[in-house]
Amino acid sequence: MAPSPDHEPVLTASNLHKTYRGGLLSRGGAVRAVAGVDLELYPGETLGIVGESGCGKSTLARMLVGLERPDEGEVAFRGRPFFGRGLSGGGVPRDIRRRVQMVFQDPLTSLNPRMTVHDIVAEPLRVHRLARDARAMRDRVGELLELVGLSPDRMHRFPHEFSGGQRQRVGIARALATEPDVIVCDEPVSALDMSVQAQVVNLFAELQRTLGVALVFIAHDLAVVRHVSHRVGVMYLGRVAEMGPAAGVYGAPAHPYTMALLSAAPVPKPRLRGRSRIMLAGDPPSPVAPPPGCRFHTRCWKATDRCSEVEPALEAVGDHYAACHYAERPPERTPSPERTT
Ligand code: SF4
Repeated sequence: MAPSPDHEPVLTASNLHKTYRGGLLSRGGAVRAVAGVDLELYPGETLGIVGESGCGKSTLARMLVGLERPDEGEVAFRGRPFFGRGLSGGGVPRDIRRRVQMVFQDPLTSLNPRMTVHDIVAEPLRVHRLARDARAMRDRVGELLELVGLSPDRMHRFPHEFSGGQRQRVGIARALATEPDVIVCDEPVSALDMSVQAQVVNLFAELQRTLGVALVFIAHDLAVVRHVSHRVGVMYLGRVAEMGPAAGVYGAPAHPYTMALLSAAPVPKPRLRGRSRIMLAGDPPSPVAPPPGCRFHTRCWKATDRCSEVEPALEAVGDHYAACHYAERPPERTPSPERTT
């Protein structure tokens, strides 16, 4: 299902900030992992989030499901704030925890090796009291395993007896157990072999279509995100650089960083082939000391003095949003000639 502006967002993040202090990477400073992110997720849509490693995607994912408390800002489920600074310290309310689930990056470490697949998938059913007895629980676990393409006959085996792709399917079955409205998927295929990635991505697309669950799909691979997403957000150093419908962002990127990422990715459309590759200077700056003004200015070939002094806001550019003083406007659509007969 494509997102519909007629619907209220199912999940809203407002002005999320997260800074880590005293960690190994901070070297005595403060790592500003997420620095003012807003997003809305609509019922039945997939919102892809892409960016280089260290851009804050995973911290954002953990804040969206209530695993990481923001320093500022809040997260709301169907308009009801449930997690953020100033809200109750008691964690995410149980009814919302049921509705917002997560699939983790590495199925090997996210599944308890001492539990059988039955017990792993049954755990949320038990916690949320969603099965009346052991038999109902076993039947439901079997249904969930079938839904993700695994045989229920294998429910009494342990995670190490499954392949990486199958283990990720177990993680997806566990996330689906509570019939969530939202699943936040944090790099769900990046730990898998290339040959298996497509199968798992197709499974997400299929589940999204058949169950109508809304997905936040986080990845560093642009091709993966494009395949499953209705809308895409591009993150750079803890902020959103560009966000909009996937066709608009991939077809006519407005932000120089998006252009650079796309120019380095394989291009399926013949009309876009031949675009020259944009080589970015250097590595992303440290999130301990992000550059003033536009965070991208130290690597941007379009930067001017204004860019190093004034931070650009995320503003509408055609049908999407970009945080750039000199964002490219999408080409005007040529109006169809009027009929004369
Ligand atoms: Fe580049 Fe300036 Fe735009 Fe930042 S604001 S992306 S530095 S042109």
